[in-house]
Amino acid sequence: ATPTALLVGTGIGAERGILIKGGDILEKVYRLQTIVFDKTGTLTVGHPQVTDCISLTELTNDALLQLAATVESGTTHPLATAILDAIQEKELPLLSGNDYQTESGFGVSANIAGKRVLLGNEAWLTTQGLILPENISNTVEPLLMAGKTVVYLASNDQLLGMIALQDQLRPDALSTVRQLKELGLEVILVTGDHDVIAQAIAKQLEITQVYANIRPQQKAELIKSFQNNSLVAMVGDGINDAPALAQADIGIALKGGTEVALETAGIVLMSDRLLDVVESIRLSLGTFNKIR
Ligand code: ADP
Ligand code: MG
Repeated sequence: ATPTALLVGTGIGAERGILIKGGDILEKVYRLQTIVFDKTGTLTVGHPQVTDCISLTELTNDALLQLAATVESGTTHPLATAILDAIQEKELPLLSGNDYQTESGFGVSANIAGKRVLLGNEAWLTTQGLILPENISNTVEPLLMAGKTVVYLASNDQLLGMIALQDQLRPDALSTVRQLKELGLEVILVTGDHDVIAQAIAKQLEITQVYANIRPQQKAELIKSFQNNSLVAMVGDGINDAPALAQADIGIALKGGTEVALETAGIVLMSDRLLDVVESIRLSLGTFNKIR
């Protein structure tokens, strides 16, 4: 491989808004067999919207939302942004809180009016001592089946209610998956979200390999296990998947994502179009073939 050819290859990419950092990436793409996608912000647009607010106590649905937004006010997760946007739209103020904490891949908590309030996924809240009412799945299951993410609000081990949020699939997600398969790649979905919603989205995108309820650190371990058999690429936005992007043989970051992701990734897609994942692979293959 001549350095000049590699430089030309990466140069062409840059013109199209595809940043390929270094020639070794081109060589790795040539041997790539598996490509792993994060869900939120990667296969989906990453701007979920609150669709349902379900209070299970004497609190009104608006008061529940207000409480949830207050707990979220210490973080920048897409779910937090959505819940904060929702109270702003309703012109509801935040309550006063302190000791805000974020459990990456699980949820958030804060002290509000002298009580510890937690907001996050079912698995996390259960480990924190919450016992869910027996018939709660009657309420939650239809929301999950509709592809909505459901988060639980709890205080003193009591479930106060749920908030459902809907994200949109990226318009080019299905064609991206299809074209990657045509290139002979195995496509895998990995998410920290619930299994039912993960399956619903995978079905729409014709992805058969799905790993749900995966914590951020486990995402990296999972990538490692795939690396036993083949070279693995990981596509993500860096929100809760930066360790996985770093672990992959090729990390592909979407520009809308975090600073860390842009630094760690070998390929950065500046235009924030998912189809550029395919383009960057085609480009690398083309360059490498030319060199050989
Ligand atoms: P993904 O893998 O889809 O990008 P994350 O790893 O960011 O998802 O989060 C996994 C799950 O943890 C979310 O679906 C949600 O249930 C919960 N969660 C994470 N962050 C928050 C938050 N700020 N507020 C509420 N729930 C959260
Ligand atoms: Mg994510």
